[in-house]
Amino acid sequence: MNLGKRTSLLILPVIIISYAMIAWIIYERESGSLQALEKNRLEQRASLIGFTFNDYNNFLDTYLRSLTEGNILAAYLRNTNNVYREKMLTGHLESAISRGRQGRQTFASLSIFDSDNTLKLYIENSTDPFATIQPEQIRIATEMADQKLRKKWEHTTSDNGQSAIRQGTAIDAKTLLTPTLLQAESTYRIIVTARPDKFDELLRTTQTEYQAELRYFGIDNPLDAPPQGLSAIVKLSQNYFLLIQPSEAYLASLLSQLQIRLLAIMSASVLITFILLQLLIRRYITNPIVRLDEQLTDVIARKKDNIDFPHSEDEVGRLGRKFHDLYEKLNQAFQESFLQARIDVLTQLPNRVGFHEAAEKMLLDAEKHQKQFSIIYIDIDNFKFVNDKYGHEIGDELLKAISAKFNYLIAIALKRNDMPFVYRLSGDEFIIMLPEYDNDSASQVCNKILKLFTNGFNFERGHFAVTASLGLASYPQDGSSITQLISNADLAMYQAKNTGKNRLAHYSNELAKNDRQLKEIEFLLKEINPEAELSLNYMPVIDHADNVKGCEALLRWHSPQIGPVSPAVFIPIAEETGVFEMIDLWVIEQSFKDYPQLQSILGEQLQVSINISSAEVHSDNFIHKLKTLCHQYGITPGDFVLEITETFAMEQSSDAIQWLERLRQLGFKIAIDDFGTGYTSLMQMVDYPVDIIKFDKQLVERITQTERRHLAKALIDLCHIQSIQVVAEGIETSEQSRCLWQADCDIQQGFLIAKPMPIDTLKQWLEEHRYLERVV
Ligand code: C2E
Ligand code: MG
Ligand code: MG
Repeated sequence: MNLGKRTSLLILPVIIISYAMIAWIIYERESGSLQALEKNRLEQRASLIGFTFNDYNNFLDTYLRSLTEGNILAAYLRNTNNVYREKMLTGHLESAISRGRQGRQTFASLSIFDSDNTLKLYIENSTDPFATIQPEQIRIATEMADQKLRKKWEHTTSDNGQSAIRQGTAIDAKTLLTPTLLQAESTYRIIVTARPDKFDELLRTTQTEYQAELRYFGIDNPLDAPPQGLSAIVKLSQNYFLLIQPSEAYLASLLSQLQIRLLAIMSASVLITFILLQLLIRRYITNPIVRLDEQLTDVIARKKDNIDFPHSEDEVGRLGRKFHDLYEKLNQAFQESFLQARIDVLTQLPNRVGFHEAAEKMLLDAEKHQKQFSIIYIDIDNFKFVNDKYGHEIGDELLKAISAKFNYLIAIALKRNDMPFVYRLSGDEFIIMLPEYDNDSASQVCNKILKLFTNGFNFERGHFAVTASLGLASYPQDGSSITQLISNADLAMYQAKNTGKNRLAHYSNELAKNDRQLKEIEFLLKEINPEAELSLNYMPVIDHADNVKGCEALLRWHSPQIGPVSPAVFIPIAEETGVFEMIDLWVIEQSFKDYPQLQSILGEQLQVSINISSAEVHSDNFIHKLKTLCHQYGITPGDFVLEITETFAMEQSSDAIQWLERLRQLGFKIAIDDFGTGYTSLMQMVDYPVDIIKFDKQLVERITQTERRHLAKALIDLCHIQSIQVVAEGIETSEQSRCLWQADCDIQQGFLIAKPMPIDTLKQWLEEHRYLERVV
């Protein structure tokens, strides 16, 4: 939920509750005032009604008094001959009405009854020439006569809501006073009537307005119960009252109107306050935070370098400024470490990280525009040797010089410098990227790179003739991803190394197939069952006098899945994957087991050579197990030669020499195998704690060529001076054999003499050869 919504949810209930409480307090007060006000209003209305009624009542009083006290009625009653007497009374009635406050339209009537209750006169102020007396007046006159009343007052209301006030008075015609004897002949009854139209009108409006119930009451006709709630009582005459009782619904509707009004006002207030607060909170609190948040998001998404510098003095401004400064410092530190993480300090070339970033970009560009590009994987040959022999300073100098040469060459070849093209992956490994180069044009660049190494490198401390192995892979045919391309270029580089170094190898499907086979071998080696799959062949060796002096134990692996695999193939893999110790111990144990049988075939003085993996060096466990096996099989170590390869022996430190010394102290003889394949000079080799040097087949081929024969003698003599025996390997021709015997070679081994064979066929071999006789 965002900040805006959260503030809305927080403030809205607070506003609603506050206004609801205010509205409730107002309602409490207002409803009281409203009731008081309404009571007041009703009472005013009641007073008005009372006044209006009294007006009519007073009019009748005054009119009646003026009649009895004036001489017009006397004239009427006494001068019965006067023809105008009626007219005079009519005029008097009209003038009384016009004097009254009720207006000319007020209906009033006068009726005079004699002592027999006979109507003597009836007049009214209407325009109706045929107007007749109403029965109510006759009824009053009759009631007065019957009940012997001197005065009577009444107010009645008809069904149509028209009311009338009637006053009757008994009068003595002679005295014009109230008669003492009501039965006297001279007693007349005067009945005056008025219709209180305005009073009726007021009652009607009051009734409608208040939905009120009207109830007349007096002593004769009291109320059942005292009035409740909003009500008013109007005194109409001495003993005649009117109760105005508005209905409950009237007040309830007023209160509900008040409630609705308050609710509307409250809602409007809530809305307005909420909008105002929202606007203010947004403007002064939320928006600055939201702006800051948006900017931070942009900064994190790298759409912006930093947030805008905030100038406001509030908390948000301060927070923003702190972040701005902090991010600037972090950014600086990041940029520095970003560069450092991508640059190799020694050569100043971009490193592996830099390469991957650049390569991904190049791949994207190539995919988009359907371009090609090539990757050259370079490993400097024998760099470790230089490093170990001459020290890291020289190694570093060499790497810097090589990097500079690469950079120079590539700058000229590509004629562009919009990005780096040479990268140092690690140690002595480099990668060169060639944008828009196909395999053929990249090969030409590779040849130029190889030429860079032709004359070696000259430093103060000497000349260093290093070379490079190059692997080439091109997009898209050799891989569609950078990982694939690097791995394939790396594979090709290994191929270049394994096939003699100082050369270029292209990645190919064939290469990949070999690689897959190697991987399969690697897998199968881990699962190997030595007793079932491994066996030993023995290759006899002879001295100048054709005596069999010994044999070399050579391992054979017949895999149930892929058939026979050459030790030259699987031994390096076993060394890499760590299975070598188990294999070496198996070979040692098997040859120890075979030794008595070998002696019985090839002679008591037989020396058996065993190849040990270079990875074994330093292993105390190996020496320990060797001792145990010697003890177990009753072996004299002097009957065995342990062979270790030249390149490996030379790469080892003084620790390795001590390790070899320990083997020698046990009584084993140490042979340097494959001498001549590495770059070691014989001078270096003779300083080693060895008993035998085995000249490799390649060296044998070289030194037995006619023009180099003098070398053979010199090399062998040099070994003899150091009391080192020389074994020549890979003798295939009698020419080679003769040549080396002449040069005083001690032992010869090769297909000319014998091929490696199982122990069971050794005897047959001996029989087939002339040696059999001598051995026996
Ligand atoms: P190596 O120790 O130099 O063994 C000599 C290799 O040269 C043998 O190959 C042998 O068959 C071959 N050879 C000898 N004379 C001739 C010749 O006149 N012409 C030709 N063309 N080849 C000749 P192999 O048996 O294939 O062994 C290859 C390498 O495998 C060995 O080279 C050795 O380094 C390694 N190896 C063999 N057996 C073992 C073992 O039991 N343990 C270890 N760690 N390595 C072994
Ligand atoms: Mg060997
Ligand atoms: Mg060898």
